[in-house]
Amino acid sequence: MNEQISHAGYRLVVRTATAVVLALALATTATAKPKVTILATGGTIAGAQASQAEYGYQAGAFKVEDLINAVPQMKELADINGEQIVNIGSQDMNDEVWLKLGKRVNEVLQSTDAVVITHGTDTMEETSYFLNLVVKSDKPVVLVGSMRPATGISADGPMNLYNAVAVAADPNAKGRGVLVAINDTVHAARNVVKVNTSNVEAFRSPNRGPAAIVNTGKITWLEVPGGRRGAKSEFSIDGVTALPRVDIIYAHANMSADLIDAAVANGARGIVLAGVGDGNATTAAIDKLTATAKKGVVVVRSTRVPSGLTYRNNEVNDDKLGFVASLELNPAKSRVLLQQALRVTKDPQAIQRMFAEY
Ligand code: GLU
Repeated sequence: MNEQISHAGYRLVVRTATAVVLALALATTATAKPKVTILATGGTIAGAQASQAEYGYQAGAFKVEDLINAVPQMKELADINGEQIVNIGSQDMNDEVWLKLGKRVNEVLQSTDAVVITHGTDTMEETSYFLNLVVKSDKPVVLVGSMRPATGISADGPMNLYNAVAVAADPNAKGRGVLVAINDTVHAARNVVKVNTSNVEAFRSPNRGPAAIVNTGKITWLEVPGGRRGAKSEFSIDGVTALPRVDIIYAHANMSADLIDAAVANGARGIVLAGVGDGNATTAAIDKLTATAKKGVVVVRSTRVPSGLTYRNNEVNDDKLGFVASLELNPAKSRVLLQQALRVTKDPQAIQRMFAEY
């Protein structure tokens, strides 16, 4: 009898202990949110107007704490903490800030699950692609901005930030490279370009289309972005303090060769041609670029046309003239890749391989 009681008591104790362990496990699962760090750099998303309906505003007026406090709902998606990297309009983005930001993202990702970067929209397509090349992790890195300042009527920043955190917190965002989340759409860094100066629908991925649609935090993934990136990238900025100068020269009817000379005289080690059509330019410009390439300055042909590729050896004989064709990359992104490439080599064939891969 006594033995039976003690057996029953033992079973009760075991059952109770199991229930407690299960309840604790469930509670932990329910509260184990991903850790997302928000790195703020400024832009319109942190911008303030003097009066609500005014057109003009000052970019980078609010700090990271203000942005986080404006969207308390994000805390249901992730454990959020924030850090201010700089507070600038992204027209002032430069190599120094890129290197600081890239190094910080690499550091932060060692102890956090994902990073969201608030950024002005003007150079978002370049910063995102730079990070796509130099962040040594497959964890999500999501850039977000807005077209209307934080104080504007119907500001788009808060929802964009909420969606960016939702994307960063989604395990399916891993391995897709750096992403840009804006206006209910997610773009891959390699593809995204700014296509409108003021509309909230300011970004597109012309050749490949968006990576995902996001609606109030609900994400539908559409595409696995192309291009080598993240942990598989050969580019590292560890210990790097400066990047080589690369200039972009815009082609047009009646283009002279003068600006090419000026770029080289000012120390450009690479030139990206924002060419007409399939990366073309006047005979005078192509002749000057040929002479420039012969001197060891790397020339990449890209296009000022918003979609389509710049093909190798199509209208311009790259093999003969010593040029690199940018393929899918627009001039701004070509410049970013050429800066990284020039740290490793100035061989046009080796650089052509990088343009095909990245
Ligand atoms: N020019 C500013 C910037 O890029 C404002 C544009 C924006 O953020 O939308 O930061």
